[in-house]
Amino acid sequence: MKDYVIIGAGLSGLTTAYYLKQAGFSVQLIEAKAQVGGRIQTVNTEDGWQVDVGANTALLSSEAIDRLIDELDLRDQVLVANDASKNRFVVRGGKLWALPTSLGAFLTTPIVSPMAKLGLLLEPFRAKATQEESIADFVARRLGKEWRDWVLDPFISGIFAGNPAKISAQAAFHRVWILEKDYGSLFKGMIARMKSKKAARQAGDYVASGNMISFKSGMSTLTHALAAKLADDIRIDAPVVQLSRINDDCWQVQTSDGNSYQGKKIIVTLDAPDAAKLLRPLSSDAANLLASIESPPLAVVALGFDASQISHPLNGFGCLIPRSVGIATLGAIFSSQIFSGRAPDGKVLLSCFIGGSRNPSIAHWSDQEMIDQVVKDITPLLGITGQPVFSKVQLWKHAIAQYHLGHFDKVEQIRHALSKDTPNIMTRANWHEGISIPDVIANAERFARQQRIIRNL
Ligand SMILES: Cc1cc2nc3c(=O)[nH]c(=O)nc-3n(C[C@H](O)[C@H](O)[C@H](O)COP(=O)(O)OP(=O)(O)OC[C@H]3O[C@@H](n4cnc5c(N)ncnc54)[C@H](O)[C@@H]3O)c2cc1C
Repeated sequence: MKDYVIIGAGLSGLTTAYYLKQAGFSVQLIEAKAQVGGRIQTVNTEDGWQVDVGANTALLSSEAIDRLIDELDLRDQVLVANDASKNRFVVRGGKLWALPTSLGAFLTTPIVSPMAKLGLLLEPFRAKATQEESIADFVARRLGKEWRDWVLDPFISGIFAGNPAKISAQAAFHRVWILEKDYGSLFKGMIARMKSKKAARQAGDYVASGNMISFKSGMSTLTHALAAKLADDIRIDAPVVQLSRINDDCWQVQTSDGNSYQGKKIIVTLDAPDAAKLLRPLSSDAANLLASIESPPLAVVALGFDASQISHPLNGFGCLIPRSVGIATLGAIFSSQIFSGRAPDGKVLLSCFIGGSRNPSIAHWSDQEMIDQVVKDITPLLGITGQPVFSKVQLWKHAIAQYHLGHFDKVEQIRHALSKDTPNIMTRANWHEGISIPDVIANAERFARQQRIIRNL
């Protein structure tokens, strides 16, 4: 019997298993698909396209991700996004406008009006929120409505594929939200954070670089390296179909091929809808709460062109499209311009997104319908001539958990329902405490540390 049987070998399952193993526990990781990685998947084609059909980049925003890269010996595989990718474009009036990155650009940007810019001067004097609020209300209150509609809205589409009026500022943007809580102002908080970073740097302490990275062979490098460390502790191609209690200290996990695995503790790392299905026979309370976490569909539509087909210089990370402009495509990442090795010589790779909580109907579109829609949308924006020379579509049916108002309470209620109905079954997943890759890694590391402390008590 293993100490832990972990279900699902996406980044949550892989990192949880890796850190628990490092802490001296025995683990068994079980994955439904024929490959590990979940939402991190790199596809290489014979003719030289390299496409990340799930997560595209990771932000070096925490010590945990940097430490993991070193432990896995991946530092020389890291590709840092080139300098130009600091530019991010937003669509307004049928054109791409770079979000301002300097004071000069800020004063001249046409993305928001002069009144909206002047309004920022009042930000340090605005009162704190008295209750949990949506990120749309938070930004409108602190910065103004234009910043909400033309800057926040497309960012929410880009990160969460979600609706800013429903997403909780506290749960989904904790690092921003806490600035108001601790300093009373985003600007004051940012200045304080810069000062403490400077002091940490001077003291020789770790300071996150904030670099946006990928790997020479794409994002799957990370999940493959974790899988290599776990080696025989992983079983792939084995969907878990049932969990049953043998006694208070032993659970049994059954896979669709009839095999079973026993563990003292079970960790379910599936997305919320899948976790709800698996856990329903054991705890209908937990299952109902899990099923209520909205996880809308999103498709990555990767398109390749001859460089000569695109007149825009693609001198940035990509472009975001506010929902108010009435274009179905959410945005496009200029993948081959950010990282080398993504497209054959003379070609360009764009990774576009369509769907999300405000357009869930794409789950029923064919690949060709999605390609046609995206090409139609981005052609005038990027000055494209003709049709793509390459395309690859990946639909994620439950792409990204939406951290709606009350999300953290809900996660706590799920934990409570499980500990009542199914002691020793736990959940770890991207719907817990952060969807981003650095969050998932940091949370798994912290969880394993807690388990070690509990064991040693
Ligand atoms: C399109 C897209 C783009 C993204 N881009 C970024 C980005 O650029 N940067 C970033 O930081 N984050 C990004 N994210 C978020 C990030 O990829 C995810 O939060 C993270 O990879 C999720 O990992 P996970 O292990 O929690 O879930 P998953 O990756 O979904 O893993 C769950 C695993 O469980 C398996 N499974 C399901 N049912 C069973 C069963 N019954 N038995 C056994 N196994 C089962 C699944 O096959 C899957 O492998 C993106 C997400 C999406 C969808």
